[in-house]
Amino acid sequence: MKSFWLLLFLCTWIWADAHIFVYHRFGDSRYPSTNTTLEELRKEFTYFKEHQYTVVPLSKLIAALKAKETIPDNWVVLTIDDNYKSFYQNGLALFQEFKYPFSMFVYVGATEQKYGDFMSWNELKECAKYGELEFHSMHHPHMTTFTDENIKKDFDEGLALFEKHLEQKPHFFSYPFGEFNPRVKAIAQSYGFEAILNQNMGAVASFSDVFDLDRSALVGKSDLQSFLKYKALNATWIEPLFLKKDGKVSHLHVKTAETQAHKGGIYISENGYREIALNEGVFETDINTTLTKERSRILISVGTKISTKLMVKDNVIQ
Ligand SMILES: [Zn+2]
Repeated sequence: MKSFWLLLFLCTWIWADAHIFVYHRFGDSRYPSTNTTLEELRKEFTYFKEHQYTVVPLSKLIAALKAKETIPDNWVVLTIDDNYKSFYQNGLALFQEFKYPFSMFVYVGATEQKYGDFMSWNELKECAKYGELEFHSMHHPHMTTFTDENIKKDFDEGLALFEKHLEQKPHFFSYPFGEFNPRVKAIAQSYGFEAILNQNMGAVASFSDVFDLDRSALVGKSDLQSFLKYKALNATWIEPLFLKKDGKVSHLHVKTAETQAHKGGIYISENGYREIALNEGVFETDINTTLTKERSRILISVGTKISTKLMVKDNVIQ
């Protein structure tokens, strides 16, 4: 009995996880699916405060991951994708009130071309006094539909303008629409970012890949408390790794560190959820399905630990 409690304690300690969240628009009721109302934002910030969560800068989490430190399970990182004016006009004041740091991922082309809903270079510079500015592409493309050459063109153009106007190099990158595959990831990594963020629900633990960090979206009607319950599953995906144009997925093979687990769950978009028996923590099963949408998700779980693979159709690899 004693060893059971010791094991439980060790598990809690070993599996200490942080959570990265992503926001888009603030107090902008025209776009309910990407908006966070100010009432909701205050509720979330108050929840963090009252439940002893520590909101840390993304750079602090990345430094801890690189140093292979144990990641405290009360760490929360707040990121914002797309430099919408609504952050400057509505969201920023609340971040300042709570003294919460943030990382904003800049869609460079929108500011450069002065799109109405987006912040100006000067407004971005003002935000840089309170948070970190990072890179989110030049033209916000669906990168898996681009050739290697065109993806690189987007990075080259966007990074040059980012550095020219903001007089700093970004350290981190987040994919437009959270869409990527191994081909896009390799190109993004070649630009020397210290970390890359996706938009898959999940958590961050000491074993997490700094070039594939999960973020849960706090937009629309989000459920913060259930997001905070998820932990990161230490998983090595063998198959599938990406989605071809025909959308066929025949087999699933993922090794996890949960070698004592006998039961796991698989969720596939358009297919729903099912349980499967695990052999020493290995997920291996026939799928034999065709995913018809441009993007789908496969999520595997062991208890509350999850690992997600976003499957986006690649227009280049046949
Ligand atoms: Zn975006």
